[in-house]
Formats: sequence, C-alpha cells, structure tokens
Amino acid sequence: MSVIELDEVTKRYPRAEGSDLVVLKGVSLRMVAGDCVAVTGPSGCGKSTLLNIAGTLDRPSSGRVLLDGEDLAAADDRSLAGIRNRRIGFVFQLHHLLPQCTALENVLIPTLPGGGDADAVTRAEHLLERVGLADRRHERPARLSGGECQRVAVVRALVNEPSLLLADEPTGSLDSDTAAELVNLLVELNRDAQMAMLVVTHSEAVAERMDRHYRLDHGRLRP
Ligand code: ADP
Ligand code: MG
Repeated sequence: MSVIELDEVTKRYPRAEGSDLVVLKGVSLRMVAGDCVAVTGPSGCGKSTLLNIAGTLDRPSSGRVLLDGEDLAAADDRSLAGIRNRRIGFVFQLHHLLPQCTALENVLIPTLPGGGDADAVTRAEHLLERVGLADRRHERPARLSGGECQRVAVVRALVNEPSLLLADEPTGSLDSDTAAELVNLLVELNRDAQMAMLVVTHSEAVAERMDRHYRLDHGRLRP
C-alpha cells in the first residue's frame, strides 16, 4: 500500500487582479515505504505548496491526497493535526528549535500530545546517538552548530516513527560540506527506518542522492 498518494492535485491562489494563480496543475505522485524522492525546481515554482499539501498543512483546490490509503478530504482540521503529529515528520530550511529547551527536550516535543509515551525518551536518545549527538543532548541550540541543530530537527521529525518524512530545502541554510553530511544522514535514516521520504529542493546535488527525481515544471511533475 502506498504511504502517500497525490492524485491529480491542483492548487490555485486567488489574485486581487482577477485570474487565479495556478501553482499546481495536476500533480500525481505515489510513494511506498522506503521510497526516497526529490522534487526540484526554481524558486516560486510551487515546491513548498506541493510539500505542504502532501503534509496536510494545506488542502488542494482539486484532486485527492491519500495517506496510508486514507483519503484526507473528509478529515477536519483537528483530526488532520493528529494525523500530522503521529504519521508525518517535517524538516524545514530553518530548524525552528526552541531556544530555551535542550536538544533532547526539543526532540521530545512531538511526543507530548501522546502523553509522552514510556519509550519516547529511549527512542529520542537512540536517534540522537544515531546522528552523532549523544554527548550534546543536554545542550541548548545556541551552543550547537547549524549542522548540529539541523540534525536535532531531523531527529525531532523522526521521534514518533512517522511513515512519511517531508523535507523542504533541508540544506538551504548549511554550507556545502555540512549540507552533504546532512543529505547522507537523511538517506541512511530512510534506509534504516524505511519511511517514505520526500525532499523538495532547488539543489540538484541534493536531488541526485535520492532514488527518484522529478522536476516541478509549470505546475506539473516531470521525470
Ligand atoms: P517554491 O517553494 O518552489 O519556492 P511556493 O510553493 O512557495 O514555491 O510558491 C509558489 C507560488 O505560489 C509563488 O508564486 C508564491 O508567491 C505563490 N504562493 C504561495 N503561497 C501562497 C499563498 N498562500 N497565497 C498566494 N500565493 C501563494
Ligand atoms: Mg519553498
């Protein structure tokens, strides 16, 4: 069964001057567990729009979005929030870590709505160790490098063991060496955890590392 399926998804934004801005013109994409997909395209082509629709942060104008086989059209905002928290992990260009919390505390935040299940700390510590941050786990973000903060953000995205990991320009604020390390890590974690991973980026170098690569061109995905 597919983890995520976009079926003829369109997205249009109304414009003050009349005709809508049509950003997505019929995008279909199917990903199964373990898939590792990149979508590239220039700034403004609709990558974030596509990722936000796949992540239930935004709704399509038409077309269907299915997560683990379930059509999300009927889900209200409250149940979408629950689905997002449990089944989808997000990584953004900026890490958005809370400055007053340690690395470990930041990683545990997505586990709090579920009552902070008994295994959460074990999972968090295991993942922090996996990304080489075991001995940094009690540091606050201000004392970590940009690459370390982004690794913490990746661990936070994975702590609930989501079936889908979505990354929007995950290396966009890193220098090229640190960016390459982060991409290596994402590919390895995808291989370990077998979640479906969708990365949108303007970087061809990042996209080349994924198993499948599409270009978002005039509102449509092309190989
Ligand atoms: P990318 O991530 O590839 O840079 P985006 O998905 O952010 O592109 O944006 C695609 C286009 O849609 C841009 O022209 C942008 O200005 C427009 N856009 C994005 N979000 C909105 C919105 N909420 N309202 C109106 N226009 C939007
Ligand atoms: Mg964007």
